[in-house]
Amino acid sequence: MINIVLFGKPGAGKGTQAEFLKEKYNLVHLSTGDIFRFNMKNGTDLGNLAKSYIDKGDLVPDEVTTKMLIDAVNANPGAKGFLFDGYPRTISQAEALDAFLESKGTQNTATIALEADDNILVARLLERGKTSGRIDDQDEDKIRNRYQEYNEKTAPLMDYYKQQGKFHAVDGIGEIAEITSRLGNVIDNL
Ligand code: ADP
Repeated sequence: MINIVLFGKPGAGKGTQAEFLKEKYNLVHLSTGDIFRFNMKNGTDLGNLAKSYIDKGDLVPDEVTTKMLIDAVNANPGAKGFLFDGYPRTISQAEALDAFLESKGTQNTATIALEADDNILVARLLERGKTSGRIDDQDEDKIRNRYQEYNEKTAPLMDYYKQQGKFHAVDGIGEIAEITSRLGNVIDNL
């Protein structure tokens, strides 16, 4: 089984790249943001709860997110591997993921970060907000808040994975296909 954590700031292109990688490596793509938005659209209890955080650009509480992620993995018993996109975003989530994968007799193979400059990313998100309908993409203050959440809670994961010898980074600026091939080079050499 190969399990990849795709890591990066909001707007870094995790979702875009995941679409290519899941085909290439036959992985189940689990995007916590997509699962939350699906629930929000359908007005589920989980969606209503998540919306109160997401629309402000805050992280959804760990217990809620981790339970959702575990349910999503368990819903795919035949999977050859998973591509985690948007999870983990806190140390507590990373620890929960490690423990959960271990309990399934598997592990996180590698965490791969897409790196890009903040100013480029904010501009990308504002552009995406014009068509995505995402409230959290439409207001610069909310976007800045997501970066603050990232810096405070998610950035420490880089050291967490470096200590495990599992952290890899690729340049997230360039043509989409070029970035896919950079990610592929990392995965092929794992
Ligand atoms: P982006 O990477 O552009 O911020 P996502 O679609 O990955 O977009 O996430 C959108 C929002 O969903 C986040 O700002 C956060 O509120 C919530 N969210 C997604 N994943 C998590 C997570 N692992 N933990 C807590 N909140 C999350």
